[in-house]
Amino acid sequence: MNFRGQIFWKNDEGYEEARFSRVFNHRRPKSERYPEAIFIPENENDVVEAVKYANENNLKIAVRAGGHSWAIWSVRESGILVDMQKFTNVDYDEKTGIAKVQPATRNLELQPILEAKGRFFAGGHCPTVAVGGFLLQGGQGWLARSRGWSAEQIVGIDVVKANGELIHANKDQNADLYWAARGAGPGFFGLITCFHLQTSPSKKYMMASTILFPNTLAQPLLKWLQEMHGTLAPSIELVGLGQTVPTLENVEGTDIPIFIIHALAFVDSEEEGIEALKPFESFDLKEKAYFTRENYLTNFEEQFALQMEANPEGHRWAVSNAWLEGTPEKVSEIIAPSFANLPNKQAFTLWYSMAPLRPLPDMAFSVQSEIYYATYVVWKDEADDAHNNNWIKQTISDLAPITKGQYLGDSDFQVHQRKFVSDENWQKLQGIRAKYDHKGLFHNYLCKSEADLNKNI
Ligand SMILES: Cc1cc2nc3c(=O)[nH]c(=O)nc-3n(C[C@H](O)[C@H](O)[C@H](O)COP(=O)(O)OP(=O)(O)OC[C@H]3O[C@@H](n4cnc5c(N)ncnc54)[C@H](O)[C@@H]3O)c2cc1C
Repeated sequence: MNFRGQIFWKNDEGYEEARFSRVFNHRRPKSERYPEAIFIPENENDVVEAVKYANENNLKIAVRAGGHSWAIWSVRESGILVDMQKFTNVDYDEKTGIAKVQPATRNLELQPILEAKGRFFAGGHCPTVAVGGFLLQGGQGWLARSRGWSAEQIVGIDVVKANGELIHANKDQNADLYWAARGAGPGFFGLITCFHLQTSPSKKYMMASTILFPNTLAQPLLKWLQEMHGTLAPSIELVGLGQTVPTLENVEGTDIPIFIIHALAFVDSEEEGIEALKPFESFDLKEKAYFTRENYLTNFEEQFALQMEANPEGHRWAVSNAWLEGTPEKVSEIIAPSFANLPNKQAFTLWYSMAPLRPLPDMAFSVQSEIYYATYVVWKDEADDAHNNNWIKQTISDLAPITKGQYLGDSDFQVHQRKFVSDENWQKLQGIRAKYDHKGLFHNYLCKSEADLNKNI
């Protein structure tokens, strides 16, 4: 094997660090999920060599880019783990506006490079998520509501197939593999060494309005948001949050979860921002707010800092989500308790607008609805595992009557299995998998039951 990077075999010194040190979630499997070896390739040829080695030795392959999947999809039992940590190069072409971005590149590296060129690509909201896992599952980036799924901006991929061949895939060449890479997520059956991404001109201003309410108003506010969000300007990203906000210690009542409306406008002038944010200037329940901050200028640096504060490193996490559908009355009634009664002070619940729903291009990603709901439980002490895991399990189960499916990005199929692509696309995906990886070299989805994959059970 002509492999120039590092390899850690199971009993090597450094193996355990290589297995977990780049994994965001500290709630890690204890007595299982040990790959035979961890390969850290230096270059594309190393990736080819690693895949060939696995193929010749009948070892399954798992892949890691940024290590941010909540369920730690990169760490699987036996086989090899290919950790793409050295693949962080970004190469931008001024003529086409296309950036060639390697899979372990994080948003905090990509965004400033593009901003310096007056360009934008919607990476994850959290600056430390890498494009690898993010794009494969669809990618809900900044302003997904009107800009769409970040995977829609993939114009090509360089990918090492299960037989070790490095190929390019796009809409004309190996189009089926290109189709699968935009939505298969951790069930993708190839190793991507580079994404070719179409960037767009960046907006000049980010403006926001943030309004904080007592949690007792979560239900009517969620109802109002659902009634109005489809009418907002396309420049608006809108979230509703149930969260405890420690920086507001002196404001009475905010040491428990409060309900926050945060609207962010991506615009070319301040006037455009003020106009887009107008619906948040006056509305029925506004006078009951604890605190309002309106039409203020912000930027990625500030927004990334807020994300880092809400998503601290070094913690244990349980996360789940659902695509919701139903009348505003019904949806708000069912979900409101999970915004107000969180299991601890760091946990938060998110309502994220995708309305009005845009039609999707033909790609594997195919299940969404106007409301994205996710809940994030974070804690430090292992002794709290059972309490927090049970809370999230129950909360997501309670949403069953209004659940259309789930988004791979915030899912853990070991706990909840839901539909994430349409039935038709699921069939097609199986066919493409059989064609490119008939031996099943790449690990399939980490789940409770393979027979129940892509079902709302
Ligand atoms: C704090 C935080 C914030 C987040 N915010 C967002 C958000 O705003 N929007 C959103 O959509 N998601 C978000 N996520 C979810 C995140 O996008 C997914 O967990 C994603 O899978 C992480 O990608 P990664 O490369 O960092 O993770 P990894 O765990 O390294 O990768 C996940 C899986 O993707 C596959 N994969 C990765 N790279 C490759 C490759 N090169 N070739 C083949 N397969 C590959 C592998 O199966 C791998 O196991 C967030 C996660 C965290 C922890």
